[in-house]
Amino acid sequence: MSDLRSGDLGGNLRGDGRRGVAILGSTGSIGRSTLAVIGMHPERFRVSVLGAHSSWQAVVEQAQRFEPDAVVLVDPAAAAEARAALERCGSKTRVESGAEALATAVTGDGTQMVMAAIVGAAGLMSTLAAVRAAKRVLLANKEALVMAGRLLMEEVVRTGTQLIPIDSEHNAIFQCMPAGYLPGDAARGVTRVILTASGGPFRTVPLSRLTHATPDEACAHPKWKMGRKISVDSATLMNKGLEVIEATLLFGLPESQVDVVVHPQSLVHSFVEYADGSLLAQLGAPDMRTPIAQGLAWPERIRSGVAPLNMSQVGGLEFEPPDLARFPSLELARAAARAGGTAPAVLNAANEVAVQAFLDGRLNFTGITTVIDKVLQRLDISPVKALGDVLDADAAARRLAVALIELKPGAFA
Ligand code: NAD
Ligand code: MG
Repeated sequence: MSDLRSGDLGGNLRGDGRRGVAILGSTGSIGRSTLAVIGMHPERFRVSVLGAHSSWQAVVEQAQRFEPDAVVLVDPAAAAEARAALERCGSKTRVESGAEALATAVTGDGTQMVMAAIVGAAGLMSTLAAVRAAKRVLLANKEALVMAGRLLMEEVVRTGTQLIPIDSEHNAIFQCMPAGYLPGDAARGVTRVILTASGGPFRTVPLSRLTHATPDEACAHPKWKMGRKISVDSATLMNKGLEVIEATLLFGLPESQVDVVVHPQSLVHSFVEYADGSLLAQLGAPDMRTPIAQGLAWPERIRSGVAPLNMSQVGGLEFEPPDLARFPSLELARAAARAGGTAPAVLNAANEVAVQAFLDGRLNFTGITTVIDKVLQRLDISPVKALGDVLDADAAARRLAVALIELKPGAFA
């Protein structure tokens, strides 16, 4: 255990000493950035597994370039297409299908690190499998942690897994923690962590225009290019709410010691406050290749392809408190963090259903938070003793959110 937590990755490295990286969600924004960093360091890393939902053409292109041992597509028809395409070009990559295959593919000896970059609750089982197999887990899939946080962190501590946060704020905090610190350890001397938030695309838009904001407006993030679900979360500020919960779990802090400050320039990625009055921050361009490279190479440092900041050209750095009236999501998430038990799983599931309905044009923008609020009010919150409790709460919250959206289409106008 102590070896794993000091940077050794265990498992069988290939004869050439390269580390095998399984990338789940390889066709997404984080997945593609991960491949871009790996592509810069072919002597250090090899791709062991590529996993995605159904975008088989993109995976086939990635497999041709990176020659993984396996490709896993959840959708069987897409997997069949990918298998045929890879066989035609003489590839040795095996193709598997189904959600369970994702979880088993990451546990093989050829994998030392797993980039968990599937979006939403769909990433939970494979993330958990990677933690249980004591692989280094690079965690982008914050929803898995929000849902099943305590169980997942217990497994991290039990197995000695190196869980490295990739979410830029949490990666910044990780970088500002005492030397040798890993999530799951007590954060000694830390009095607070402060997450920065860009404020999203609607920070200064008149409140009256928010109700009918369109999916494209919500996804036009001023600083970060990301998948559509997290972009909408950034527009409602639920992303920051999920990140408050994520921080409590990773760093073992109560919600009251996790603050949020709006910082429109998105250059300071977060702060750690110490008992002696020190405030440490990590700065960099808003580009996910930096945290990805940090996680891949930790405790070393490698190039990421991101240009350094030129501080004499940065100009001002502004900070202001979040507008809680404009963004009620943040307080909903804090209440779920305080309630504990199944509350974060309920919050997350209701949010996923509401965001999808918004993206599909079935719910207006402000209706997203209304649905989450109603689901949280109506469902009983219970303690989490086993994974089944989390999955039941997730399913119940989804059913109720769907019912609220479908049965009362006018209720949220
Ligand atoms: P994305 O939508 O661009 O990509 C999602 C990936 O997940 C795709 O490869 C897709 O095939 C796969 N996927 C979707 N549903 C799936 C399912 N049911 N089963 C298996 N695979 C499935 O998303 P993204 O922006 O890359 O975000 C991925 C995760 O990283 C999210 O949890 C997000 O919150 C987190 N994150 C992203 C960023 C960012 O800059 N994009 C920053 C911080 C955290
Ligand atoms: Mg973030």
